[in-house]
Amino acid sequence: MPGEMHPLCLKITGGLVYDPSNGVEGQPRDVLIADGRVVDQLPPGMPTERVRIIDARGCTVMPGGIDMHTHIVALPQTTDQSEVKSMGESGTGFALPSPKDAGIVYARLGYTTVIEAAVTPDQADQVRAAIQQTPILDIGFLLELTDWPAVIDSLRQGDEASALREVARLMRETGAYGIKAVLGIGANTDAGARPKINEGFLDQPMKPGGVSPRRLLTFLSDAAHELNLPHPPHLHAAYLGIPGNIEPTLQTLELFGDRPVHLAHAQFYAYGQSADGGFASAAGRLGAFVKSHPNVTLDTGQVVFGPAWVVTRDRVLHRWLRYTLLNSDAPTEACDPFGFEYSQADPINALQWAIGLELALATIDTDQATLSMDHPNGGPFWAYPQVLGWLMDKQSRDRRLADAHPLATSHSGLAGQDRVLSIADVVRLTRSNPARALGLKNKGHLAGGADADVAIYKVQPDGPAKMFKRAEWVVKGGLVVVERGELCQTPAATLLSPFSDRM
Ligand SMILES: [Zn+2]
Repeated sequence: MPGEMHPLCLKITGGLVYDPSNGVEGQPRDVLIADGRVVDQLPPGMPTERVRIIDARGCTVMPGGIDMHTHIVALPQTTDQSEVKSMGESGTGFALPSPKDAGIVYARLGYTTVIEAAVTPDQADQVRAAIQQTPILDIGFLLELTDWPAVIDSLRQGDEASALREVARLMRETGAYGIKAVLGIGANTDAGARPKINEGFLDQPMKPGGVSPRRLLTFLSDAAHELNLPHPPHLHAAYLGIPGNIEPTLQTLELFGDRPVHLAHAQFYAYGQSADGGFASAAGRLGAFVKSHPNVTLDTGQVVFGPAWVVTRDRVLHRWLRYTLLNSDAPTEACDPFGFEYSQADPINALQWAIGLELALATIDTDQATLSMDHPNGGPFWAYPQVLGWLMDKQSRDRRLADAHPLATSHSGLAGQDRVLSIADVVRLTRSNPARALGLKNKGHLAGGADADVAIYKVQPDGPAKMFKRAEWVVKGGLVVVERGELCQTPAATLLSPFSDRM
């Protein structure tokens, strides 16, 4: 019955609503939905039997979650998903979920929108097909243009107009949401040697026959502006994971002037250098930079202790991580994903964990920061509730810090950070800020006209973070998809594209 599938109207009543962009932080009020949108009033004359009531007493009501940097539908190169899954089952603690399973797990957590963070133009058909297999979510993908010959060759020849035409064509034909740039870690590195930061890197070609990061990023920034893209260039900066990389990262961000730019998985770039050349947190510096540069947004790139996967198209990084994590120097042209584990006993892993939390806490009072795990690179996305637990509860955070390698305490500012996130802060970090960074005007809030993507969580007596483990109700585009904690229907995913009329 179509009427049951899609009741014309919904009234979510009795819950405490969190919609911080509209100044609503825990007030009891109704959320009304008609035709897939939040409305101020139900259409006049609507018969009561056509209005479905959701009793949200004892619950919080907020916009659906948005993960603005994840990898669920595109794996690097030609690796097929079934192979990866079996590798996961035999080798590490979790198998990479199929797109279908990922959509369901996200929805049950109260997430309704995700951005697939790196897709090359030649992967786009395959990725759109995978999106069709993914239920419930709105999914956009970012087009990775760093190696695309028709763009790079034109830039090298000084023909920006041709390069721009090519970007415009690719954006329209692939259905991508935005542009991704992968600067890579630096060239000519021996697999076993930690890459060295080259101070002149911004003005040197990224590879033979290539263009410099400055040239590429200036162009991509112009292109995003010219094409009126809703999201600015999404940056995987150089020297990911290297101590001291805060310097090249800030230099790279400075290059944008006051033009918008998004720094992906920022934790991996918030590294200073200790006296012995090792890692130290630079989360405070990156946080201060973000505060004084309102054009910069970031997602945090939190890691959690336990199994994870390396999924990257940064070849030198991939090779170096394979060498350091797996002790393998086998050639891996395809950048195949591989499993590994973040250990709290490992000094660097412990520090990475602390830096991610420190960065979120240092930037929470801006509207520029978003929570991400770069799933599966920082661990599985279903660990978000655990991450929120540390951000919302100083005691559990400090307990975990005390268990972790002492470097996390001595070389980060986390121990001295007393800030804890409120529920409204969580809504900012996981809803309104990512919507703003992505230019999704109808998401991340619940004012009239917003997309009817709503997550409803039961208030838990033993701590606010507990509620985020499982949504009680989820409404996606006006359809109830999770009802009393159970999945009840799985509408097809929608592709988010700035050139489709839906936007
Ligand atoms: Zn990523």
